[in-house]
Amino acid sequence: MMRYMTNEELWQAVLAQIQLNISPANFSTWFKNTEINSLKRGEIIISTPNSFVKEWLENKYNKNILKILHSLDENIKEVKYIIGKTKPRVFNKIDVVLPENNQLEFQEFKIDKETNLNPRYNFDSFVVGPFNELPHAAAVAVAKDPGLVYNPLFIYGGVGLGKTHILQAIGNEVVKNFKKKKVRYVSSEKFTSEVVSAIKNYKIDNFKLKYKTTDVLIIDDIQFLAGREKTQEEFFNVFNVLYEGNKQIILSSDRPPKALQSLMERLRSRFEGGMIADISMPDYETRLAILKTKAQEKGVGFPEDVYQYIASVIKKNIRELEGVINRLIIYQKFNNQQPDLGTAKNLFKDLLSSPATIITPKKIIQTVAEFYDLKEKDILVSSRKKEIVRPRQIAMYLLREDLKNSFPFIGRKFDGKDHTTAIHSYKKVSLLLKKDKKIGEEIELIREKLLYNVI
Ligand code: ADP
Ligand code: MG
Repeated sequence: MMRYMTNEELWQAVLAQIQLNISPANFSTWFKNTEINSLKRGEIIISTPNSFVKEWLENKYNKNILKILHSLDENIKEVKYIIGKTKPRVFNKIDVVLPENNQLEFQEFKIDKETNLNPRYNFDSFVVGPFNELPHAAAVAVAKDPGLVYNPLFIYGGVGLGKTHILQAIGNEVVKNFKKKKVRYVSSEKFTSEVVSAIKNYKIDNFKLKYKTTDVLIIDDIQFLAGREKTQEEFFNVFNVLYEGNKQIILSSDRPPKALQSLMERLRSRFEGGMIADISMPDYETRLAILKTKAQEKGVGFPEDVYQYIASVIKKNIRELEGVINRLIIYQKFNNQQPDLGTAKNLFKDLLSSPATIITPKKIIQTVAEFYDLKEKDILVSSRKKEIVRPRQIAMYLLREDLKNSFPFIGRKFDGKDHTTAIHSYKKVSLLLKKDKKIGEEIELIREKLLYNVI
């Protein structure tokens, strides 16, 4: 029967099951605009509307999704997530939407099979400003003398700020200058799935050989290795062999090493000869430069005041700046005229209509409840149930830690308890954070969810 099921039907069947198990708000937040992109040889690719949803599905729902898919079609062994769609969307003239990633460009570039590098990422197309000067300089130095300076190189920074770009640029530069050096770029997800399948198929020796013979190993987003013991072990193993052979290792993460304590503990001594550099937020001038560079790359140009307006409103994410350029291009194509300032303001009012995220106690409580699939009132009322105790404590912790609410205030919010309950919860979570990395990750995800204003 499965043979006759289209991808769309298959995904509908998955969604129908998921919907039974999670709250409607969560369901619409995380599964809206998702679909099956492709299904080949047991590997299914789900497309998601943005990187936040992608990461969320990977981290929180992947297990479930895979289980359901596998139950529907037992050939399905692996699920991957991408941003954007491959099918061209039908654009509506008034409400122009474009996936965050520039798919037009995606198709022009071919990812190299050996190195896994996308040639689109190079140093020439990378705009340097005060916010990324240091990682850029380190990257250039590493590309010149792989294995000899800054080994390992660790670059961290928020979503969409250029980590992947800079990492791959190093790889591409090395490939260009050192024909004989073996370069390998891999995302942490891919690394993990390779470990898993190597173990399953008794191919761990092949896996080891493949990695230990690289000259430049680049692993992106290593925060995803947290909590994956077996993968970490293989990672350390490969790391040590390469390091001792003076091979270059380059890592990225969305958070600083100290937020990856357990993972970094074993690498600490290695960082003496290495370099840790962060990419912060781009300043106004650089945002302007990035917009102009992107437009130029795509062979278009827009009025100066349009650039200035966009640079002044989009501050945190370079990927978003790119998305805006794409939307302007599409506008221009549809309307056969260049957008002026008024049009730009109109086109992007949705970006501005969401006011700067204001985090309130209510919002924290709602978000924590949603995160754990509970009702708001569940965590407001004292309970002994295990599935409620911890979320309740975490909500109190966040009220204290992030909003600096007083303990008596927090006590009153939570079922009129006195301040000792609040103090106890705060202390308990603080303590757990030191011991249990999973809690730390959950809290980070909750904070992200709060920030992205998705409820
Ligand atoms: P991250 O990996 O940190 O989430 P990416 O490297 O994927 O971010 O960057 C997001 C997008 O922004 C990519 O398309 C990338 O090419 C572009 N980008 C990031 N930083 C720069 C920069 N300094 N100059 C030009 N483009 C950039
Ligand atoms: Mg990245």
